[in-house]
Amino acid sequence: MQLSCETEKVIGEEWNDWRWQMRNRIRSVADLAAAFGWHVVPGGVTEAEARFPLAISPYYASLIRRLDPGDPVFAMSVPQGLELVDPPYLGDDPLEEERYTPVPGLVHRYTDRALLISTSICASYCRHCTRKRVTGQRESVISAARLGRAVAYLQQHPEIRDVIVSGGDPLTLADNVLEKILSAIRSVSSVDIIRIGSRMPVTLPMRITDKLAAMLRRYHPLWINTHFNHPQELTPQAAGACARLADAGIPLGNQTVLLRGVNDNPHVLETLFRGLVRIRVRPYYLHQCDLVRGVEHFRTPLARGVEIMDFLRGRLSGLAIPTFVVDVPGGGGKIPLLPQYIVSSDPSCTLLRNFEGKSFSYPEPQEPGHFL
Ligand SMILES: *Cc1c(COP(=O)(O)O)cnc(C)c1O
Ligand code: SF4
Repeated sequence: MQLSCETEKVIGEEWNDWRWQMRNRIRSVADLAAAFGWHVVPGGVTEAEARFPLAISPYYASLIRRLDPGDPVFAMSVPQGLELVDPPYLGDDPLEEERYTPVPGLVHRYTDRALLISTSICASYCRHCTRKRVTGQRESVISAARLGRAVAYLQQHPEIRDVIVSGGDPLTLADNVLEKILSAIRSVSSVDIIRIGSRMPVTLPMRITDKLAAMLRRYHPLWINTHFNHPQELTPQAAGACARLADAGIPLGNQTVLLRGVNDNPHVLETLFRGLVRIRVRPYYLHQCDLVRGVEHFRTPLARGVEIMDFLRGRLSGLAIPTFVVDVPGGGGKIPLLPQYIVSSDPSCTLLRNFEGKSFSYPEPQEPGHFL
């Protein structure tokens, strides 16, 4: 029918317009009920929504296949009562970023790197977000004054070579606002690389327009790390977004958060990591879930991550294997965790085990005199 074809075309155009997606995010329990056809709101949802911000882009909501927390996309985006479980070791700022914030909005924890909080806005608020003290609390964008102070700090600290533009999600910013930030950082000659951390390729891939990619490529060397957690997020649209960025010469990495009931399964992660390299995204980190409030139901024992790493090694291309890291409480920073491959060691020989569990002895170098 003529009319319905026309209507579908308009809806299609809107659907593919990233600003329409941002304007039409699910933002309240009433929106959830309308989107999911809930007659009765499940227990705890209202309380959890009052505690931690809610947003889900229509695109990301469309990836939900089952309306219960057994669905990974549902679990990562829809509030649930379990978020109210509040053990004493979970906090608002688990990485003590505030302690490492010399000027507002700039986190300087590692000597040669600094992280700029460019906005508090994301297309979808992850229930497991580490930076819930910032994200979505009050949707706001970095002011010119704040950016100026951050750039002045970078100028006074030439040891900073890598600036991570983070948030919130920097790709929620309009092209011209993002470009102001990038050119301000680029004006500091001691900065070698700019990194953008963004979940938009996952939650709102239509944001990655050709125009955006063309703007970003003017600020090379520029890297992007994104945040895919489950193969269900590997859609043709997400693949298209990554292709536009990779075609602009932007190396792409991925930071997965290990989440119980979502992806704490070696086969799920194998599928995810194989799928990522196929769309030219290099798995960079597998993160132990940070100790932020509201995530107790998502947490896994550290040993689970190590066990998964052990499963992946030797089975997958090394390119598809990330580093498993835990960001320790107390502001200690990221610590990589590896399966134990060294069985025993003495000055002449180290006993190793390989990915098949077989043992091999490796002769250590000796002083030349030893053989004379
Ligand atoms: C993770 C992180 C970085 C970047 O660390 P890499 O290991 O280089 O990826 C920088 N600053 C802060 C505050 C971080 O949490
Ligand atoms: S996209 Fe990143 S910053 Fe935004 S809510 Fe998710 S984890 Fe937090």
